[in-house]
Amino acid sequence: MTLRLAATPSGLETAARILRDGGLVAFGTETVYGLGGDATQPAAVARIFEAKNRPRFNPLISHFATAEAAFEQVVATPLARRLAHAFWPGPLTLVLPRASTSTVSDLAADGLESLAVRVPKGESIQALLRAVGRPVAAPSANRSGRISPSDASHVLEELEGRIDAVLDSGPCQVGLESTVLDLTAEGSPILLRPGGIPAEALEEICGPLAYPESETETAPASPGRMLSHYAPALPVRLNALSVSPTEGLLAFGPTPLAGAGAGWNLSQAGNLEEAAARLFSGLRYLDKQGAVLGLTGIAVQPVPAHGLGLAIQDRLRRAAAPRPAL
Ligand code: AMP
Ligand code: MG
Repeated sequence: MTLRLAATPSGLETAARILRDGGLVAFGTETVYGLGGDATQPAAVARIFEAKNRPRFNPLISHFATAEAAFEQVVATPLARRLAHAFWPGPLTLVLPRASTSTVSDLAADGLESLAVRVPKGESIQALLRAVGRPVAAPSANRSGRISPSDASHVLEELEGRIDAVLDSGPCQVGLESTVLDLTAEGSPILLRPGGIPAEALEEICGPLAYPESETETAPASPGRMLSHYAPALPVRLNALSVSPTEGLLAFGPTPLAGAGAGWNLSQAGNLEEAAARLFSGLRYLDKQGAVLGLTGIAVQPVPAHGLGLAIQDRLRRAAAPRPAL
């Protein structure tokens, strides 16, 4: 059952409580309806991918009530501050280096060293984010591959029964996703996604923009992009049916392989949401154990190819892909 909450003080309070408890709430912003979850809880982020039926993970934008709150999670440059001053709250997303003290989960950031942050505009989303007091990860509130929703009834058509609530703040003003600007590269900022703020308006503040080579949300990750992802230091071997004492085991399900030098079970119960939430921490753990124990690789037990399993497999394939020489 998906609650339809009015944008009243009690509706907002309920929505904030659901988010803090790790549930999912869709909410209107000035761009489109977002499907929000607490970005600091990997299990909540895993639920977002599950509800959207996403075949692979990708980095999510974290939303904040103020620029100050956003800039606690990233390393803000002077240019980022000028852009924030000019366009926030508003439809501009900034990609910046993730702060070492960031509380955003690896799953929300897709293991990247960078983080996308935004301060959306609108009375109810602002009130909600203030009440939650944590970064809220939110992609658009539609099933994967479908059109972004610009009012609460579109959200229900897409996600009824799959999310806890939708906070109805009426139709969206902009109806188009935010502009995504990458400030992590040296040189000109890169316009990753055109959106609610026109490039010309940005160029008045940052000078000429650069454009990415040819990556879209649906195109396979380019090697350059794969490099920027978190890949474990140890080589990764997929679909392992046995494991050696010199390997770390990334297990799945009630019967982990015997004999590994170290182990991390993604989900003893075989639950794919739990596995998604524990994936990045598992890879990091096995890497650390590898360094301590002198392990030579990570063996991964098969993960089923349905639901979030597809996204987990995609992420693991990228972790196992041959690494370009550095
Ligand atoms: P959506 O999930 O529809 O809100 O889209 C989010 C957009 O932001 C996608 O195009 C992502 O690829 C992009 N994005 C989010 N985080 C990052 C990041 N750290 N680096 C580059 N792009 C990002
Ligand atoms: Mg989308």
